[in-house]
Parts: sequence; structure tokens; C-alpha cells
Amino acid sequence: MNIPGHCHCGQLQWTTHLPTGSLPDKIICHCKNCKAFGGAYSVNMTVPKEQVEMTKGTPKIYTYTGHSGNPVDCYYCGNCTTHAYHHQRALGDRLTMRPLLWEHEMAQEGPVEMEVFAKDRCAFQPIIARSFDVMDS
Ligand SMILES: [Zn+2]
Ligand SMILES: [Zn+2]
Repeated sequence: MNIPGHCHCGQLQWTTHLPTGSLPDKIICHCKNCKAFGGAYSVNMTVPKEQVEMTKGTPKIYTYTGHSGNPVDCYYCGNCTTHAYHHQRALGDRLTMRPLLWEHEMAQEGPVEMEVFAKDRCAFQPIIARSFDVMDS
């Protein structure tokens, strides 16, 4: 299946190509970087890079250091600042996508498979999945 996604203003559009009927595991990240980008946590899926196709616009790239000490490239819209995806270089050819930006009902549903950087979970957030204090990458 081909799942469309777009940034807030629409200048960036992309398609994620996935096997029909299944989505990758949902991973919630509570790390301080995700909080700095706005929100109490982020909802993520990792997808092989070759399954993601930018169909409109060219994202800008912001590189920062992840908690593992490895670089992370953030691909975002230069107009509205929506993050299309991140590339944690330690993950090789996989991109970290934001499924809540996908136009597919399954992307909005559970279950959540795991929570990472749970040590930084906001006190008002309940535990909803297997939780890990850190993440290797
Ligand atoms: Zn935009
Ligand atoms: Zn994070």
C-alpha cells in the first residue's frame, strides 16, 4: 500500500510504500530532543529509506546530536517546519517516520509496541507499552 503524507502547509508531500495491511511497530519516544521539537513525546515508526519517496518539495536538513552521541538528520519543511522524518545515522538505511502525519487510519491507531527514553517520560503520562530507559541509537 502507498500511504501519502504531507507537512502542515503542503509544500512537502511524500509517499511511504509498505506491505498491504501491516504497519511497522509504533514506538513512542520521550527523549528531551523530541520534547524540544514540541509535544510531550513523539510517535515513530522506522521504515527502510527506499520505501519512502518525496513526491513534492525538497526538505531542509537540520543535523543534531542524538542522546547516543550519533548524528541525527531532521528533514523538515522550510516553510511550516513540520518534520517529515528523521535519519538516525546509527540506524543505517532506516528512516524514523512520524505516522501521525500519514493519511491512513491504521497510523492513528494502537497498539504502541514500545516506549523509549522512558526515564524522561512526563509525570502525567501513563505507561502504555514495554518501556526502555534509553535506546541504543
Ligand atoms: Zn510545510
Ligand atoms: Zn526522542
